[in-house]
Amino acid sequence: GPMTVGEFAKLLHREASEIIKKLLFLGVMATINQEIDTDAMELIASEYGVELVVKEPVDEEAIDMLVEADNPEDLVARPPVVTIMGHVDHGKTTLLDAIRKSRVVATEAGGITQHIGAYQVEVGGRKITFLDTPGHEAFTTMRARGAQVTDITILVVAADDGVMPQTVEAINHAKAANVPIIVAVNKIDKPEANPDRVKQELTQYGLVAEEWGGDTVFVNISALKKEGLDQLLEMVLLVADLQDLKANPKARPRGTVIEAKLDRGRGPVATVLVQNGTLRVGDIVVAGTTYGRVRAMTNDLGKRIKEAGPSTPVEIQGLGEVPSAGDLFVVYDDERAARQLVQKRTNREKAEQMQTTARVTLDDLYRQIQEGNVKELNVIVKADVQGSVEAIVGSIEKIDVAGVRVKVIHRGVGAITESDVALANASNAIIIGFQVRPDTNAARAAEEHKVDIRLYRVIYDVTSELESAMKGLLEPEF
Ligand code: GDP
Repeated sequence: GPMTVGEFAKLLHREASEIIKKLLFLGVMATINQEIDTDAMELIASEYGVELVVKEPVDEEAIDMLVEADNPEDLVARPPVVTIMGHVDHGKTTLLDAIRKSRVVATEAGGITQHIGAYQVEVGGRKITFLDTPGHEAFTTMRARGAQVTDITILVVAADDGVMPQTVEAINHAKAANVPIIVAVNKIDKPEANPDRVKQELTQYGLVAEEWGGDTVFVNISALKKEGLDQLLEMVLLVADLQDLKANPKARPRGTVIEAKLDRGRGPVATVLVQNGTLRVGDIVVAGTTYGRVRAMTNDLGKRIKEAGPSTPVEIQGLGEVPSAGDLFVVYDDERAARQLVQKRTNREKAEQMQTTARVTLDDLYRQIQEGNVKELNVIVKADVQGSVEAIVGSIEKIDVAGVRVKVIHRGVGAITESDVALANASNAIIIGFQVRPDTNAARAAEEHKVDIRLYRVIYDVTSELESAMKGLLEPEF
């Protein structure tokens, strides 16, 4: 149920007696096991310089939803978490491997790296955490589940190939998530490399190099020859400094599941990224719809560790089941509460699966606009030729119905792909296809996630149908 005085005291790292005294000053007589109301909590917390955000309604998940604004003196700088994205074959995997091999945090264990889904490197005494899955599938899957783990994206663009469709996709994914981009212009060892062309091409997508008056960092590298990597990593730290990334090692540990699997010998194992607090062996962890006591923790060097602080990726054993990538985890004080929460979530998940989600569809758009759920209609545009893409984008961006506007979050030439659907799912967007169709995987994913895909053959139909949908005048589809 709601929090007791004792639990609240613990949350604030104070003696219960001290809180009871404060309550007395507020005219509230309370004992340690008594429930404390939200107003009193907020008042007392503010006296300690802590801001509580209590999301209504307060229920069994009170602890989970209670966000402790950390004492400023507890906050420490944390390593940035970096994702590498870019077009296929532009060198993402090579770069991830090169960085890992050259800069593995030295340990007495010798440093045989294990693939756990993320790793850390050390640069001038500071750490950087890399998510080890190249491409934007992982990134988008996590964001679709409400997880925000990436602080910086390195966009790899091959200097001999230039900006390609997945380069643009990656840019749009990063932009949709508000994550800063560092451009790594790769393969500069190749004779046909033309880094300036890459720079030129990227200006079209709002990525303008500093020397050209913009604020995007570009670094020329060769992942293969391991050139420019030091500079790239320094730039990561520089961009991280601008973000002032901090966390509180003393806070209730929480974070995100990066990947998980069932191991034949060890049972469910999950790589989690600790985002706040310090995770320890013995902690009771709730992750998505599973929970358990952390039996063992292994770092990216395959070394057993006892605790993991902010931005540290660590593989944990002890969960009852395999969680999903993107699930949030949080440490609970008490196993019974953890079990209850998981039970509740499981029930809710079942109930939700019965209903359709509040996803934007054209048929439902008018109602959602009326209810104030939609202020901006996110749209992805795919067409057979570039000219059509631009024509459609140009005309639908002019639509303004009762203050609701169309925002094109991604555009491209070619079939509608699974990645388009993933982006639509994560950003609550609809997909417009002009003279193109979804491929099999995209169709299946759209079906599964209830993403609305609309196919057209006449440009005029696109604008008129969007406008009608926004005005609630859409003819029902049969
Ligand atoms: P990914 O699909 O983006 O992960 O690309 P990979 O890392 O698999 O690289 C694709 C190909 O490009 C491989 O044959 C790499 O050896 C090659 N490659 C990657 N980086 C470089 C580079 O800096 N220079 C050259 N010449 N080749 C590279």
